[in-house]
Amino acid sequence: MAYKITDECISCGACAAECPVGAISEGDGKYVIDADTCIDCGACAGTCPVSAPVAE
Ligand code: SF4
Ligand code: SF4
Repeated sequence: MAYKITDECISCGACAAECPVGAISEGDGKYVIDADTCIDCGACAGTCPVSAPVAE
């Protein structure tokens, strides 16, 4: 299991700064989460202004 960022992402970068394991990086048009690195902590979902990160 890992979190995933939906197309609602506005590429603000707030989640990447909060991720404790550096799993989030800027992708093409939105930020993306590396599923193999994500530890399912939920910090990104709690930080995102548009609720784009969701638990898969
Ligand atoms: Fe990073 Fe936690 Fe979000 Fe996974 S759930 S991408 S570990 S902040
Ligand atoms: Fe996208 Fe939300 Fe992360 Fe900002 S905090 S980059 S809107 S997923």
